[in-house]
Formats: sequence, C-alpha cells, structure tokens
Amino acid sequence: KTASNQLLVIFGASGDLTGRKLLPSLYELHVRGLLPERFCILGAARTEYSDDEYRAFEKVHIRESLKNKEVDEAELDSFLRRVFYLAFDSTDSAEYHKLKDRIHQLQQEQQLPDKIIYYLATPPVMYELIPTCLKENGMNVAGSEDGWRRVIVEKPFGTSLESAERLNKHLIHIFDEKEIYRIDHYLGKETVQNILVLRFSNGIFEPLWNRNYIDSIEISASETLGVENRGKYYDGAGALRDMIQNHLMQLMAFTAMESPSVFDPEPIRDEIVKVFRALRPYKTHDMDNLIVRGQYDGYREEKNVAPDSTTETYVAMKMFIDNWRWSDVPFYIFTGKKLPEKSSEIVVNFKSTPHQLFAGQCSGGSCNKLIIRIQPNESITLKFGLKMPGAGFTVKQVGMDFRYDSLSKNYLPDAYERLLLDAMLGDSTLYARSDALEASWRLIDPILHHWKEEGAKNLFFYAPGEDGPIEKAKLGMVPKDCPCQSC
Ligand code: NAP
Repeated sequence: KTASNQLLVIFGASGDLTGRKLLPSLYELHVRGLLPERFCILGAARTEYSDDEYRAFEKVHIRESLKNKEVDEAELDSFLRRVFYLAFDSTDSAEYHKLKDRIHQLQQEQQLPDKIIYYLATPPVMYELIPTCLKENGMNVAGSEDGWRRVIVEKPFGTSLESAERLNKHLIHIFDEKEIYRIDHYLGKETVQNILVLRFSNGIFEPLWNRNYIDSIEISASETLGVENRGKYYDGAGALRDMIQNHLMQLMAFTAMESPSVFDPEPIRDEIVKVFRALRPYKTHDMDNLIVRGQYDGYREEKNVAPDSTTETYVAMKMFIDNWRWSDVPFYIFTGKKLPEKSSEIVVNFKSTPHQLFAGQCSGGSCNKLIIRIQPNESITLKFGLKMPGAGFTVKQVGMDFRYDSLSKNYLPDAYERLLLDAMLGDSTLYARSDALEASWRLIDPILHHWKEEGAKNLFFYAPGEDGPIEKAKLGMVPKDCPCQSC
C-alpha cells in the first residue's frame, strides 16, 4: 500500500522526540521510497527558526541519530527540502491563523491535497489545548470531501483513569475515534508485531498456548540507566505509569489475546480490550503480596527528584487473566531502572512433564521456555532438555535460536518508522484504542491510590546493579536459569 499525498504537522518540532526519533524515521521512510510522492513536514514550536535554520538544526540530529548507518548526504538534503518550519505559540488560539495560512500556502505551492496529520510531540499539558485551538480555528475538519484530518498523540496518555477518560472525551469531541492515533512505540517494534505472526500463522505453538501447558509468563523491561536528566518527569510518573500501564500491558495483551477472525485493526483491537477487561482487579489487601515496588539507592539524590520521594523505579507484579484460556496462570510483569542488564523480553515457561523420567535433571518446568526478546538483539529462543553425548543419560538445557538480523541483515526499522507510516496509511492496528487504554488504567489506578496512602511503607530499596529488591522473591517467579543439577 502507498500512502496518499499529505502534510504532516509536528507540534513540538524543536524538541528531543522530533530530532531523535520522528525526523530520522521519516528520513528512513524517504530513503526507502515509502513516503508519498507529494509529502511535506511542517514543524511548529516557539523557538524562532527560518526553514533553512531549522533544516540545519535538525540535520545534525538526524545524523546523530543514524550514527551507526551510512547517511547519503544527497538523500538527506532532498529529504530536508520536504521539511518546513513555523514559529508560533501553539497554546494561543489567536495565533493559529499563522498556522492556517502556512498550511494553505504549502498546500498551494506543493500541490498537496487537504489531508493533514497533526502530531502532538509537545509536553502532555498541551494534548487538550492544541486540539481545542484547532477546533476553534476550524482546522480539525477537512475542507473538502476527499480530505481528512488525523491526530497522533504521544505518551503519556493521562496520568490516571480520570485524566485518561477526560482526554479521550475531549479528543473524541474534536476528532472521530478513527482519526485519533494514540501512540505506544512498543507496538511499532518488529518483535512485538511478530508475536502475532508467531502465534497465529503457526500450528506449533497455539495448541500449547493455554493454561494446560503453560506454567507462567514473564513480561519485562529492564534498564541499566537511572533517571538521567528526566528526574522532573519521572519523579511525578514512576515505573508503573511510565512502563507498565502502557508498554508492558500492551505486550501482555498481544501475548494473551485470542485470534481475531480477520487481520484488521478493529477485530485485533477488540481482542486486546477483552484481555484488559478480563484482568483480575487487585483487592487492597492483596496488593502488598502481589506487587513489589522498589527504588534504587541514590534515586533521591538525583537531579530534580524530591529528597523524600517515594516514586518507584522498580515494579514487579503478579497478574491473572480470568478467562478460560488463562485461568490461574500467573503473568509476572516487571520493570526497573539501574538493573544488571538492559533487556525487554517475554518468557513463556511451560509446565513440567507429568512424570519425571530424568528426575533432578533438565526436564520441563523452568527448563522448557520460549523467550521472545524484544530488545536488544531481537530474537526468539526455544529452550528444552537434550541428552549430552556419551554414556548414561545426562540431560542438559539447549536452545534453538532465531535471530532477527538473520532475516534482515542491514535494516531493522525503528518503531517510529512503522507507526508513522501506518498513520499515513490510516491503519490504526498498532495504536491504542480509547476503551483499551481506559481498561488498563482501571487496573492501575487503585494501585496508585494505595501507594499514595501507604507513602514509604512497603517501598523496598535495592543497590544499583542488583536485580531489584529481594522482596520480589515472594511473588514466586520461575528461576531465570535452569535450576536442575545437570545444567
Ligand atoms: P521536549 O524536548 O521538552 O520538547 C517539547 C517541545 O514542545 C519543544 O519543541 C517545545 O518547543 C515545544 N513547546 C513547548 N511549549 C510550547 C508552546 N507553548 N508552543 C509551542 N511549542 C511548545 O520534549 P520531548 O522529549 O520531545 O517530548 C515531547 C512529548 O513526547 C512529551 O509529551 C513526551 O512525554 C513524549 N515522549 C518523548 C519521548 C522522547 O524520547 N523524547 C519518548 C516518548 C514520548 P519550544 O520551546 O521551541 O516552543
């Protein structure tokens, strides 16, 4: 499919996300010939730049971002000729005539149809205000019959159930639901999309993909870094909001959902929301047994972090999905900063064999695993026990590996490339729908309330480089390494 000719307006064009992710991804799409023939980007922010100054400013960021790849200077210049800039205050409705005029001028000069995507890459406080101003200036609806408007909203989408509902209500009042694209960049990752293909295009795994054969599932995202220079944002957000409510819960939905009847956006999103609606809510008295929150030592001394902060930098949760497929199968979701390894993966732990012929050796349970590595080194590994060569029957865990780079040696697209292209094509499969977002907040909100009431009680500390607080042992996760005597 090719996207139709269109204009992309980026609010927050002088910011970090635009320079580090959006423009480099659009450049890659340009190089690969995936952008429509007539396509322009209009960046908007308050900082004063001319078009040429802005191009020069972003050229540096694009080069930096693509530092591991060869950048073709002629291609880069030809891409930048598609980029324009307008300095204006997008919080002031009275200034939108400047944007309207510039869009009109570009549409005329570049012969663009009346098809516009607005990308909100600004601080989240502006996610309500910008659409309001667009509406007040009649810019939320197309002026022609074959024109359209779409809006891409960055994360965080709300900070609580109430704020997410309010933002949804507000946006739906201005745009149609099908015009709203709520981004979760995890869904743009190749390995995440591959969960659907692995499960639904193979007859091997799906028959085992249920409570009869699966012991537990772990979904994790670990980082070695601390909050770095994001202390101000992070101290108000914490790991539960920053990673679990969105990214890890979306991974969980892809792992746990039923097969849609057709591979279309709405049937897929219907299945996602069913998973969230089947999540077992936490009772207050269970929360301290099923959820462990931690903070790394030294976090309170980080820049822009409160000296008595109770913000969690680590969370491990045991969740249950109350439906026929997953009844009583624990889903362990965990994330943290300053952990020993940077990785994000899904580990499916299969049940042991019903009778142990090679007792004490590698035979089922924590020996049989399917590991889907989301990042880095995207891969899928199946672990199981096999006989060691030689006398006797010594069973050892072995792995069958698929590495993503063996499919695509030189090119693994960035998540934003895929998501931007999908929005241009009008495909919302990999974007979060309002009901799914609200359903995920419904699980998370009571936990946040509970922690607020508890303060520092049940907040456990861990040393940087340790694998989270030791209290996480009470959740009963399957050991990472095979515990049998022969492995
Ligand atoms: P940032 O570096 O602080 O950039 C914010 C942008 O908004 C700047 O271009 C700023 O430009 C513009 N802005 C602020 N107030 C404005 C106003 N009144 N009128 C017009 N423009 C205004 O933030 P960021 O890191 O790019 O993040 C942008 C959004 O993406 C945030 O909501 C963040 O949560 C989300 N996000 C970011 C990342 C990331 O990797 N950076 C990842 C995921 C999600 P001027 O000061 O020139 O106006």
